[in-house]
Amino acid sequence: MAIFLEEDLLPLSLLADLLFCERRAALHQIERAWEDNLFTVEGTHLHKKVDDDLPVESRGDVRISRGLMLRSLRMGLIGKADVVEFHRLGDESGIYLERGAGLWGPYPVDYKRGRMRREKGFEIQLCAQALCLEEMLHCPVPEGALFYGKNRRRQVVSFDEQLRRETEEAAARLHALVRSGRTPPARYAKKCESCSLINLCMPKVTGVRKNVGRYLSRVLADKP
Ligand code: SF4
Repeated sequence: MAIFLEEDLLPLSLLADLLFCERRAALHQIERAWEDNLFTVEGTHLHKKVDDDLPVESRGDVRISRGLMLRSLRMGLIGKADVVEFHRLGDESGIYLERGAGLWGPYPVDYKRGRMRREKGFEIQLCAQALCLEEMLHCPVPEGALFYGKNRRRQVVSFDEQLRRETEEAAARLHALVRSGRTPPARYAKKCESCSLINLCMPKVTGVRKNVGRYLSRVLADKP
């Protein structure tokens, strides 16, 4: 099993980028390109609100920790959790938070802007947080949740074998992409309209070039 060095760790948040569009992940990590749009500003505001709340809070049988640093040397990822709840458990599978208060199970919660929807990249990013917690705390993390700011709804995500495998594969793919140092070409799709990098990426221009290339190939093929 490969163990990454601290200096080779990549931001965990890039996994959601990677699943959305490989070029976007490369523009962020390889070319260091950032540009805000309405969606990222809303997202930043939502995360700032989470950060502004109390770092640790107690609500009955739940302890809430905000901004916990996460790391996995096994997957080569580093990041910060919006929220990790610790739920009081009745069995032996949790961790001790304070003397005499029993065992607690970590439960990551990631904040997302907009309305509740299914996005594989979000689930993989959350699962990566769970795998970091398992590696750091040596206890199982079977479940977490995505919290959508617009309609304040929680979507429970179960970290089953398939999602864990997909998350590990995505982390390996992210490292391979960054190691290659090559940014994939743009391909225009509907999702580009919500991408904050559209003005830097210019996917329609690249698309035009692709069509010109196809047109030229056709013209040359028709020549006697
Ligand atoms: S504009 Fe489209 S192709 Fe370019 S990075 Fe964003 S999603 Fe990817």
